[in-house]
Amino acid sequence: MVEVYQHYLRAGPPAALLTESDRDEGQRINELIMRCRTPYPDQPPGFDRGTPGIVVTTADTMLNWARRNSVWPVLLGLACCAFEMIAAAASRFDLARFGMEVFRGSPRQADLLIVSGTVTWKMGEALRRIYDQMAEPKWVMAMGSCATCGGPFTNAYNVVNGVNLLMPVDIYVPGCPPRPDALIYGLMQLQKKIEQESLARKRK
Ligand code: SF4
Repeated sequence: MVEVYQHYLRAGPPAALLTESDRDEGQRINELIMRCRTPYPDQPPGFDRGTPGIVVTTADTMLNWARRNSVWPVLLGLACCAFEMIAAAASRFDLARFGMEVFRGSPRQADLLIVSGTVTWKMGEALRRIYDQMAEPKWVMAMGSCATCGGPFTNAYNVVNGVNLLMPVDIYVPGCPPRPDALIYGLMQLQKKIEQESLARKRK
């Protein structure tokens, strides 16, 4: 029995048992063995990255690059538009591509306020407090016609006719509701706006 086993190891299985894919696989493995005769040299600490170069840039460019790629929105939804915002963060639209998937539960850890829905005067007070608690630099998006101008509820006694009555707005996203694509387009416009900011200019 041992002899049969040793023969099997030396000569491989009988030809009748080999399928086409077995042969292909065997051929590929033999080629790999032939290619991998010489070990790779051990890597020195830190890896060899070639000749060190010099990068010249401005503080503005570096800061804006970091900021535009790590905008963290505060976790806040006011009405129907909020569901489109939630969809934008889910797998189909995937805000993570922009470094923006980290919706923060605390305004102190967020730098973007997406006002997604109808703003009532009663909510307006809380909304302004959340805005005040966010650290600079911070940006605001008015998502949907309610946040932009009161939407279908314009001039209702309890509705704010545009969130720009409460705080400065950077980007307006039209629609009732805007689709997640529209919100993402708005975020890309915000990224362009952040790129143009400068430490020398104080935000108003
Ligand atoms: S804009 Fe339209 S979808 Fe958005 S909160 Fe107002 S009514 Fe709802």
